[in-house]
Amino acid sequence: MQKRDLKYLLTVLLLTFSQIVKAQIKSDTATLIAIKNVNIITMTLENKIIENAVILIKDKKIVSINGTIPKSAKTINGKGKWLIPGLIDMHVHGLTDSYYSSTYPTKGATYFFDTQDVMLPYVANGVTTIFDLNARAENFGQRNEIIKGHVIGPRIALAALINGGDGSGRIANTPSDGRQTVRLAKAEGYEFIKVYSDLNIETFKAIIDEANKQKIKVLGHIPDAFKSTIEEAFSPSFNMIVHAEELAKQSKDYSEEDIQNFVKLSKENSIWFSPTLITIERILDQTISLDNIIKLKGFQYIHPLMRSKWLTSNQYNKRTSPEFIAYLERMIQFNNRLVKAFHEAGIPIIAGTDAGTSGVIYGFSLHDEIELLVKAGLTPEEALASTTRLSATWLGIADKIGTVEVGKYADLVLLDENPLNDIQNTRKISGVFFNGKWIAKKKIDNMLSDLAKRNAENKNKFDWNKRKDL
Ligand SMILES: [Zn+2]
Repeated sequence: MQKRDLKYLLTVLLLTFSQIVKAQIKSDTATLIAIKNVNIITMTLENKIIENAVILIKDKKIVSINGTIPKSAKTINGKGKWLIPGLIDMHVHGLTDSYYSSTYPTKGATYFFDTQDVMLPYVANGVTTIFDLNARAENFGQRNEIIKGHVIGPRIALAALINGGDGSGRIANTPSDGRQTVRLAKAEGYEFIKVYSDLNIETFKAIIDEANKQKIKVLGHIPDAFKSTIEEAFSPSFNMIVHAEELAKQSKDYSEEDIQNFVKLSKENSIWFSPTLITIERILDQTISLDNIIKLKGFQYIHPLMRSKWLTSNQYNKRTSPEFIAYLERMIQFNNRLVKAFHEAGIPIIAGTDAGTSGVIYGFSLHDEIELLVKAGLTPEEALASTTRLSATWLGIADKIGTVEVGKYADLVLLDENPLNDIQNTRKISGVFFNGKWIAKKKIDNMLSDLAKRNAENKNKFDWNKRKDL
């Protein structure tokens, strides 16, 4: 071997060695967190409760339960506390950068929403996964900010909404347009299709058939066109009805017979049900008085532009009347009967809120929804399943999230009290894990008060009625 070659070999060896050292340092400093003496509510099918356990989290995943704990692990005292899987809101409409005025090439957005501010209410409420049911390109951008680690926030599933009629957005009024819209949405990266109220019967059926061929799931409204032929809307390729009122509006007399018919059709076609009970409750609240929105927990974290919309351009409050209020109250009663009947028939109930609709506050409203599910007849454990394991299953990611098990992502919520005793205890959050990252309550509270302060300072800078000026 020549001297020059030896020098080269040594250099290569040294470089390789330094890379090994670097890699070693990296894995040694990888996040290792142990929660000790904690009660784990696993939310697996048999829902094994593991009391006084130690759980180890490395990087993003749960690596052991009651295993040995390396000395280097940072520890969190879980004594007397309860650990549950991160919560999933299966129906949100997130805020993204937008414009409201007429546009021109190169114009872009005129209103910008800080992604961390948008995601903070979810973080504060232990909502580690959301499903946006009218997603746009900007939602992909927000999701990437979170994945890159620039923002703490939930996992995000994205559905493309398809409607009929002559409105804006993704519109299809013929079967071939419906099929093409599904294929384009899939090509753009959307993972699910949401069908909407103004689709005609043939287009609705074509969309569902095409989505089935493309192996993407469909959920959404039952179009108004099915008014007297509701049976036709049900098929095994329509995977979930969202909003109990989609069924309520198909019932003439709110009869038990109608309920049983909807149950039968859903069961025969394996359709799941996401009632969004909180949506109509909040619509009723604001129809009665706008003060009911202002005093909601979390209202101060809503962006001033949206607050201005909710308070100055509130369509529900504008049409208030004793008749409308009575109509909503009757519908709420019927919705509750539907949930009870569907649940008793063994149809999976899925927790979603429609957050982003006026008065339905991101993150906070999911705790309202699961509380309403319990009021409608689910046990606290069943309500928790609806917002953890079952939702993960519907999304097709139950091998990754939805339960507290070794190998799953560490999306976790640490609670001060047992939610199986009282579902309201899901609100008593001591800290959260988002993708393995621990965020203690103190940090969450600091971030929340900072956001509330900025929103208050900027309050007069945003006026919904002047949004087209920009
Ligand atoms: Zn919605």
